Amino acid sequence: MRVVVFSTKPHDRQFLTAANAGRHELVFLEARLLPETAALAAGAQAACLFVHDHADAAVLATFASLGVKHLALRCAGFNNVDLSAAARHGITVARVPAYSPHGVAEHAAALFMTLNRRIHRAYNRVRDGNFALEGLLGFDVHGKTVGVIGTGKIGVCFAQIMRGFGCRVLAFDVARNPAAEAIGAEYVTLEKLFAESHVISLHCPLTPQTRHLINARSLVQMREGVVIINTSRGPLIDTGDVIEALKSGRLGALALDVYEEEEGVFYEDLSGQILADDQLARLLTFPNVLVTSHQAFFTQEAVTAIAATTLGNLDDFAAGRPCPNALKA
Ligand code: NAD
Repeated sequence: MRVVVFSTKPHDRQFLTAANAGRHELVFLEARLLPETAALAAGAQAACLFVHDHADAAVLATFASLGVKHLALRCAGFNNVDLSAAARHGITVARVPAYSPHGVAEHAAALFMTLNRRIHRAYNRVRDGNFALEGLLGFDVHGKTVGVIGTGKIGVCFAQIMRGFGCRVLAFDVARNPAAEAIGAEYVTLEKLFAESHVISLHCPLTPQTRHLINARSLVQMREGVVIINTSRGPLIDTGDVIEALKSGRLGALALDVYEEEEGVFYEDLSGQILADDQLARLLTFPNVLVTSHQAFFTQEAVTAIAATTLGNLDDFAAGRPCPNALKA
């Protein structure tokens, strides 16, 4: 099959080419998929997309008119694809449901530990010849209460890491996962999780129910000085509300690997340019905010697994076989 790969970065080209081993004709494009770039898929039977590519109704109509029959997402989340429109056009969609949940959970833990022990500040400080301890006071993680929202593959890995630190883990999910209970996580209401957690980590998908789960109303239910970590999807957090909570001190620290308006910024080298997003610029001024650029997935193991599963999905499409990773509307 001829497959047009949108949003290609050098590592995509490297890992997908290796996994492909010449089976399909992969056409690598740097362009993001938007209504204006959808026509670049002309001549391809499949398109391969990443998190900032938008397969909305307009894009899918263009794809249908061009004869694009399959979408292979090289990510787990699929909130960027209009699955109903895809079904209407007879376009099949598959994703990579799991690729090292450990890597994402480990990044969430790394962000938390960096913020708590001020490693990001200490790193810069000692390089400037400043060996003072003022402003670097952290807290023992052992014995603290950690709230995990969303106890699927990544949430359970994160809970396990926190149990390893000697934490009490409170969990909230719409469905209980026995694997979480097996490691000692205690399912509670969202209200109890908010009220008792010193640290809250988000691991649920972005849905209409979870959009702005962290907002002014939920923030006032939390402990003064709570630490929030988001490695899931940016719009789980109302950015304006967390900025206010950071200014008042109610929110003790914030770690973001994802951000509400990350598209067009994350994954781009904008050094030397003026940042147009005032809220992101404000977030970056806080000493107790750590932002990484949607990199939680970015480990050797995960990128290798993503490429292998994506090519497997394309093989299923090409052979007309049922694909176990297909998504239904
Ligand atoms: P998963 O499907 O295994 O788990 C998601 C869990 O969230 C499920 O247990 C589900 O029941 C729960 N959930 C659904 N709606 C909920 C709600 N309203 N409230 C509470 N819980 C709810 O997914 P996963 O593999 O663990 O991934 C979790 C999220 O992490 C993904 O949705 C994706 O957005 C994000 N992610 C980010 C990166 C990154 O690089 N930052 C990489 C992979 C995944």
